[in-house]
Amino acid sequence: MANYDYDLFVIGAGSGGVRAARMAAGFGARVGIAEERYLGGTCVNVGCVPKKLFVYGSHFAEDFDDARAYGWQAAGADFHWPTLRDNKTREIERLNGVYRSLLDGAGVEILAERATLTGGHRIRVGKRTLTTENILIATGSWPVVPPFPGNELAITSNEAFYLDEFPERVLIVGGGYIAVEFAGIFAGLGAGVTLAYRGELFLRGFDEGIRRFVTDEIRSKGVDVRFETRLESVERCGSELRCRFEDGSCRTVDRVLVATGRAPASGGLGLEAAGVRLGEGGAIPVDRHYRTNIAHIYAIGDVIDRLQLTPVAIAEGMCIAHNLFNHESRVVDYQNVPTAIFCQPNIGTVGPTEEEARRNHPNLAVYESTFKPMKHTMTGRAERTMMKLLVDDEDDRVLAAHMCGPEAGEIIQGLGVAIKAGATKADFDATIGIHPTTAEEFVTMRQPRSPPGTDGT
Ligand code: FAD
Repeated sequence: MANYDYDLFVIGAGSGGVRAARMAAGFGARVGIAEERYLGGTCVNVGCVPKKLFVYGSHFAEDFDDARAYGWQAAGADFHWPTLRDNKTREIERLNGVYRSLLDGAGVEILAERATLTGGHRIRVGKRTLTTENILIATGSWPVVPPFPGNELAITSNEAFYLDEFPERVLIVGGGYIAVEFAGIFAGLGAGVTLAYRGELFLRGFDEGIRRFVTDEIRSKGVDVRFETRLESVERCGSELRCRFEDGSCRTVDRVLVATGRAPASGGLGLEAAGVRLGEGGAIPVDRHYRTNIAHIYAIGDVIDRLQLTPVAIAEGMCIAHNLFNHESRVVDYQNVPTAIFCQPNIGTVGPTEEEARRNHPNLAVYESTFKPMKHTMTGRAERTMMKLLVDDEDDRVLAAHMCGPEAGEIIQGLGVAIKAGATKADFDATIGIHPTTAEEFVTMRQPRSPPGTDGT
């Protein structure tokens, strides 16, 4: 048997790579991990974590405002960008340290350099060449800025977390969840925000009723949401950026944030040296056990063509460790993965959209409720909440739950368990609500909505 330096070498210490490395080492494997940038990867450094901290920060303007109706006077509440930015960075540095101790504690060797493949079992890390029995590619993804005149003046989400100055006016280009979340962050922190998306409606892939509802909510918070609008060029005029759209209109802003997509980080990795094939858009094709076309080389997370979410990358990483070093044959179930968008108000979702469910379930019953949250009966804020349950009337199974409202992610996580466990509408009905909460609406909706088109809607 060949004598390798490692049983498993992981390239990329992000969500998926760290989990796979730690668990594999926990099963007794000799594991090395290379990281060229920052421990914890996108999620910890320029993704979920700093984003959520900014979302928290951006909500205070409304909270101060609402507090007055409850008898609090918060006079002189001012926002100081460097405090938020630097406190966030300190928290991330703390998390970088936590990741280091977790890997050290598990006995994983950390190499803080870029790694490339130089053969089937060989990896170059800095000046060293190492050998390994198995390789795991967990290199994640990277934002892509499309070509247009002046695109070098735009920033991506990576830079948005570290701006020297807070911009008074921001143009955000894109229609995915990152674009929509940053629109809420900048608007909440006091910037004038324009969100331009080339499609007819943003958040493709989410429930259409929820997408339309959240559009109204975001607009009512002052974000200028412009659909079917393509950015043509950006030009610097002194300290300002002049943005021209295809319809001839213009906007002058301080920052342009492009969030139009991310590409798998599979370039320049030496995959060809190892014979690893690439798929569409640079994603690495894998089988259900995350094997590439080369049997001992695996790939997980954003670099493959599945769901680009941290808990999914973690689940895939655990799957590999168990299968390789604990003699199991696990697979990840991609059905009913709950997700949230931390726009304002939040969206939480699990299961198919109404449109998808209608295609596969002819007897679909839709329970829907839209209301003003109790908190705002006192504040007078116009914000509303929307909830939806999709039920297959054939067997009474609850197929999906969608929500747009405060803490939707927190609420939908619990419902995700119920739906995964196959709960029926009768089970929901038999569950006593927690009063007074928004979430109780999910167990008290009794009357299905008429199918579209039958009541004049
Ligand atoms: P990553 O976490 O990206 O890790 C890859 C690592 O590999 C990086 O650290 C990189 O530096 C390193 N690397 C790359 N090439 C090499 C090399 N050749 N040598 C050495 N190291 C290398 N997901 C959620 O679930 N919830 C959210 O709320 C959420 N919010 C997000 C917000 C933003 C702004 C962004 C950008 C993403 C967000 N995501 C969210 C997605 C989530 O961050 C990713 O799905 C997740 O981080 C993917 O994990 P990964 O292990 O595949 O890759």
